[in-house]
Amino acid sequence: MGKRIGIDVGGTNVKIALVDEQGKIIYSNSVPTYAKMGYEYTVNNIKQAIRDLMKETNTNETNIEAIGFDFPGQIDYQNGIVKLAPNIPGWVNVPIAKMIEDEFHIPTKVDNDVRCAALGEMKFGAGRGCRNFICITVGTGIGSGIVINGQLVRGCANAAGEIGHIKLQMKDGPLCGCGDTGCFEAFASGPAIVAMAQDYIKGGKAAKFSEMAGDGEITPYIVAKAAEAGDVVAKRIFETIGEYIGLGLTSVINLLNPEKVIIGGGVADSGELILEPIRRTIKARAMKVARESVQIVPAELGNSAGVIGASMLFEDDKTMGR
Ligand code: ADP
Repeated sequence: MGKRIGIDVGGTNVKIALVDEQGKIIYSNSVPTYAKMGYEYTVNNIKQAIRDLMKETNTNETNIEAIGFDFPGQIDYQNGIVKLAPNIPGWVNVPIAKMIEDEFHIPTKVDNDVRCAALGEMKFGAGRGCRNFICITVGTGIGSGIVINGQLVRGCANAAGEIGHIKLQMKDGPLCGCGDTGCFEAFASGPAIVAMAQDYIKGGKAAKFSEMAGDGEITPYIVAKAAEAGDVVAKRIFETIGEYIGLGLTSVINLLNPEKVIIGGGVADSGELILEPIRRTIKARAMKVARESVQIVPAELGNSAGVIGASMLFEDDKTMGR
C-alpha cells in the first residue's frame, strides 16, 4: 500500500494532505475555496495544490496510489460526482473524480465528509478495533457515518447516515435547513445553541455569554466558555442540547446496537459539558441491552479526520470488492 492524497473541501478552505499507510500526515496544506468564483476556479486551485504537494514531497503518479475527496453534501460515490454541496455554491453535478483522473492519471474517489470522518476514525482513531459504531459530528449541522460489521454503510443512493434528520417532534418544532420541521439537527446543532442563547437574552437573563461576545456574534464556542466559567444559563443550554443529542442517539442506539458512538465536530470540542448530558440521557432512555453495551467517546482525529478518511476511500473500495 502506497501513499495517498486526501482532500477535504469545505465552504471556506480546501485542506490537502499526503497520508501514509499508517494514517500519518506527511505533508499538508490548505487553499481558499473561493466558491463564488465558480467550481472550475476551485478545481484549478485544487489541481495546483496537488502539483505543489507532489513537488514538495517529491512524489508523482507512480508512487501516489490514490486520491480521495470529501465534500459536505450529496455524492454519487460510484461515479465520483458531487451532486449537491449546499455550503459550496455552484457545486451541482460536478464530475470531480474524472476531472482529477484526466489530469493526474491517479485513481480518484469522492464521498461525503462525515462518511469519510467515520472511515478515518475506524482505521486510525476512536473506532480502531470496533466493528459496529456510529461517528457523529455536531457543528453547523449534525451528520453521521455508520459502520456495521466493519464496513461503512452507504445505503442504496449513498445517503445513509443522515442522523440529523431523525424527527424528534410529531409536528411543528424548529425549521430545519432541509425544509422540514422537528429534525434532530434543528434542535441540537450549533445554530440551535445560538438561538437558545439569544432567547435567554431576549427574556432578560443577564447571561455571561452576552458580556463575553461584546459587540461580536454569540457562537457556540462563547456559550461553552461561559459555561466553563460557571455561567448557569450557559450550562443549562449545553445540558438541553446534550439531552437532545442523547435523545436522537437513543433511537440510533436502539436500532443498531453499536459498541461505540464517536462524537466529533466543533461543538463536541466542549468535551464533558456536552458528553455528560448525552451519556445521562442515553442511560435513562435507551433499551437496557443496547445502552449497557455502548460507549460514548470523543472523536480522536479532530480537524484531520476529513483528509485522513478521504485518503482511505480507495482502500475501503478494495475491501468492499468494488
Ligand atoms: P462546520 O459544521 O461548520 O463544518 P465545525 O464542525 O468546525 O464546523 O463546528 C463549528 C462550530 O463549533 C462553531 O459554531 C463553533 O462556535 C463551535 N465550537 C468550536 N469550538 C467549540 C468548543 N470548544 N465548544 C463549543 N463549541 C465550539
